[in-house]
Amino acid sequence: MFFRKLNNQELWDKINQLRTTIRTTEDFKKRVCWQCGKELNIYDFLSDNIEYSAAQIFKLWQSPLLEFHCCDCFKLLKKNKLQAIADQQKTRECNYCNNEIDIYRYAKINNYLKIHELKAVWLNPKIEVFCNSICRKRFNKELSDSSIFLK
Ligand SMILES: [Zn+2]
Ligand SMILES: [Zn+2]
Repeated sequence: MFFRKLNNQELWDKINQLRTTIRTTEDFKKRVCWQCGKELNIYDFLSDNIEYSAAQIFKLWQSPLLEFHCCDCFKLLKKNKLQAIADQQKTRECNYCNNEIDIYRYAKINNYLKIHELKAVWLNPKIEVFCNSICRKRFNKELSDSSIFLK
């Protein structure tokens, strides 16, 4: 569910589809960050939201109902949201080695998670968190080893 595979060929195909669509669109929107006014690029928007199709990206971009952030303002926003999560729970223990992890480090090593996904994982004690992929692998391995015993 939280795993996203990045496929360069797929991204490239989407870029080409977008180019073709934009070329044949007369009212293609120029967009600026609504916070700081910096000009935005639809291809950056696409590569940040690779799970959407080219047609969906185009539709979102052209939507009069939506406003967009540039990367810098988005990072700042994310930082503020992280701060809000930290206010609720700043640290957790790794479910494998019991070392303490703080939310900022956890966000960094799981930077493929969107902020709401990160929040859902972090604030749910039933979902395991790990300091790194080694702890995660060991935990999963021991879990599968012990399930053999349980049979
Ligand atoms: Zn901005
Ligand atoms: Zn650990």
